[in-house]
Amino acid sequence: MKKRVGLLYGGKSAEHEVSLSTATAVSKAIDYDKYEVHPIFITLNGQWLRGPQLTKPVDSIEQLQFKRDNNSPNNITEFILDNNSQAEFDVVFPLLHGTNGEDGTVQGLLEVLNFPYVGNGVLASAAGMDKVTMKQLFSVAGLKQVPYIHFLRKEWNESSKEIIDKCEAELGWPMFVKPANLGSSVGISKATNSGELVKAIEIALQYDRKIIVEQGLTAREIEMGVLGNDDPRVSVAGEIKPMTDFYDYDSKYKDGSTALIIPAEISTDVESAMRDMAIRAFKILDCSGLVRSDFFVTANNEVYINEINTMPGFTPVSMYPLLWQHTDVSYPQLIDQLIELAIERHTEKQ
Ligand code: ADP
Ligand code: MG
Ligand code: MG
Repeated sequence: MKKRVGLLYGGKSAEHEVSLSTATAVSKAIDYDKYEVHPIFITLNGQWLRGPQLTKPVDSIEQLQFKRDNNSPNNITEFILDNNSQAEFDVVFPLLHGTNGEDGTVQGLLEVLNFPYVGNGVLASAAGMDKVTMKQLFSVAGLKQVPYIHFLRKEWNESSKEIIDKCEAELGWPMFVKPANLGSSVGISKATNSGELVKAIEIALQYDRKIIVEQGLTAREIEMGVLGNDDPRVSVAGEIKPMTDFYDYDSKYKDGSTALIIPAEISTDVESAMRDMAIRAFKILDCSGLVRSDFFVTANNEVYINEINTMPGFTPVSMYPLLWQHTDVSYPQLIDQLIELAIERHTEKQ
């Protein structure tokens, strides 16, 4: 019997377009002899729309962007109540990034509906989305990371001077200012003096009420893929070489100016430190399925963990699938394995 896969993509987030290209790529790689593929499109306004079953790769992104007809459910509640949709999937594959996609909210919904789903559960997704919580857990696991401070909008409004003083006293220049709960470098700026720091904080506050300021490092950016549930594997390492000042939104998605070097040229000591840290990070957040662990490696081979991403970029030219391809798992095999892991995790939970 073919497994019925609900392919969930689009979404009310800045990464809507990225998600559509991922869904297109998955439609090209998935094995139609093994799976029935049922597309579920979340529009930019947040409507959930079911489309006709896919029986072959889509030709274009437009084919995945259904229009709402009179029979479509109007919102998520109707969608769930619609036509026993609960019974229609053996597994859901969320191809969503960012808010409402990889932050545990969709995962919670799928949990309530009792669907097996690919990737991380509620806890790992939520903890991985909040950079402050993630860092606090990393330090519990004894993982080396850059010094940082964090504060809320309310605290900034009441005592911005004290916050700037604290940054200057505890962190070295340059500093990186980030909204706690975003990805894709949105709202992140680098500051090299206190004037820029104030501006950077004000930018970040437009995106979040919780802000993190980190000491900046001059370092290489090297990443590893983790794949599995309770006994995960780690991929080869890959280096990112952005041509811009740092790995900002445009270099990630727009100008194609970033080189990915796989495998990264690192010593065996650095590689084994990274492998160990990648597994410890995966375990402390109780991850499952897939994670991309991102590190900074300094010129004297010190390894710092930067972050993990619980739904890393997943097009065939994204780092995570490429890392596995260079290890021993092709893109179609990766899709298979993630579906198997989702079902395994669901069974283990019962
Ligand atoms: P996101 O979750 O949006 O990817 P990151 O924390 O990975 O956020 O930051 C985005 C980019 O900013 C990194 O890939 C790196 O280029 C740069 N960056 C972030 N923090 C630092 C830091 N402490 N030192 C040096 N570069 C940093
Ligand atoms: Mg991130
Ligand atoms: Mg990052």
